[in-house]
Amino acid sequence: HVQTFLHFNNNTYIEQLPSNYFYSFIQPKPVPEPYLITINEELMSLLSISMIDRRQMAEYLSGNKLLSGSQPAAMIYAGHQFGYFTSQLGDGRAVLLGQLNQWAFHAKGTGPTQYARGGDGRAVLRSSIREYLASEAMFNLGIETTRALSLVGSVMLPVRREAIETAAIVVRIAPIVAFIRMGTFELFSTRGQYDQVQQLADFVIKNMYGKTLTNKNRYNLLLIDIAQRTGKLVAHWQAYGFTHGVLNTDNMNIIGSTIDYGPFGFVETKLQGYVPNHSDDESRYAFDQQPTIAAWNLAKLRLALNSLIDLPKPINEQYEFWLHFNRTYDKLMRKKLGLTYYMQSDKWLYEEIIRLLDLYHIDYTRFWRQLADDIIPIEIQKEYWYSVYKQRLTSEGSYAKKIRRERMNRINPKYILRNYMAHVAIGKAQKGDFNELDRLLHLLRHPYDEQPDMNEYAQVSPEWAKKIIISCSS
Ligand code: AMP
Ligand code: MG
Ligand code: MG
Repeated sequence: HVQTFLHFNNNTYIEQLPSNYFYSFIQPKPVPEPYLITINEELMSLLSISMIDRRQMAEYLSGNKLLSGSQPAAMIYAGHQFGYFTSQLGDGRAVLLGQLNQWAFHAKGTGPTQYARGGDGRAVLRSSIREYLASEAMFNLGIETTRALSLVGSVMLPVRREAIETAAIVVRIAPIVAFIRMGTFELFSTRGQYDQVQQLADFVIKNMYGKTLTNKNRYNLLLIDIAQRTGKLVAHWQAYGFTHGVLNTDNMNIIGSTIDYGPFGFVETKLQGYVPNHSDDESRYAFDQQPTIAAWNLAKLRLALNSLIDLPKPINEQYEFWLHFNRTYDKLMRKKLGLTYYMQSDKWLYEEIIRLLDLYHIDYTRFWRQLADDIIPIEIQKEYWYSVYKQRLTSEGSYAKKIRRERMNRINPKYILRNYMAHVAIGKAQKGDFNELDRLLHLLRHPYDEQPDMNEYAQVSPEWAKKIIISCSS
């Protein structure tokens, strides 16, 4: 009797949508000698999943053995990649393993699927570690994201990228609708399969809101909701300095959570034109371009949903996006400044400081964290901005108040995932030493806390970090 630690009970995507259109069944291709590198115990207890021995967990979480209730399937989608439409993509190297209540389990790196387009279906340890670290970091910062449950390695499976690396598999967890991308709708609309567009939209409505809607304008409401969620998400990215790197319409989901971590990066001393992805030659997905790109992607989604939109009702997804983006961004930036009362002129305060941080190459995360302690870089002290800011704090009676400091430290993280940190952990992991990975996971699970023995990670990145090149290769 083989004990299974996880039993899928609710495969709504498979049950409510037909396979020939929306997905293909595929068996994961086994990997040699899978071993469990790390498992998210917090997430396991949240989902009431029980532990079994690490060897067995590695077998299940690599897809080598199928979990009870599992019907592995690759999901199909299309997407605009770097501005150009690709009419068919899909999970080329990932499978939906199954669902536990509302949670979908998606394994990445489980071998080629029907949508692999010649790819090897694998993911390397390097990129899998980056995804694991980043999604945990984002979650604990308070930014909507898929989460990572497990990281399994297979040292015996070489994977060819620029160099030969080894394989790994990450299991990601999110509500099933998080795996439906803007590009999923584009696939059906561009094929003229409007019945499927509608079927998918109704599936999304049912699974996102927990009920079936029948009103004629339900798709208008759905599009508005997606635009608002996307606006809120991107506002968080901009406030925290997260740059996704590949904001293709197949890498943005319809519930407004971060998905598909690849060549991402957090801004440090450069804001305008910061491009973490070395392969992004036109800087299409630069940090400061993200709001515009998200709006562009929503326009593509709007086109894909056009056959469903109840036209007499005015609907403007662009307006909804920008309204919610601006509102959320404003709220977050005013919090970062430690302000409580609303003043229209506060917008100038955060726009001007961002311009100055960029101008003087001041580390974004450190600046905000130190602001709570009134530690201000010398260049900024000399600026008009500083006197206005001090006056503003004084006017609401919170200059040099402990309570303001505490408030600011709950929104300005002390620790973020800098590229070099992931790079060091990856280098060690590739040699079989996972201590640094564990250390970073622990660190990034408490990004707002003072962790005195971890202060090295709160410093600016070392000089050599400039040489690290992050590309689409994963
Ligand atoms: P990504 O850049 O990771 O978002 O991937 C874009 C598309 O290419 C997705 O449809 C992936 O499933 C697919 N893909 C990426 N890498 C591979 C690979 N090694 N094998 C098969 N498909 C892949
Ligand atoms: Mg993707
Ligand atoms: Mg470049």
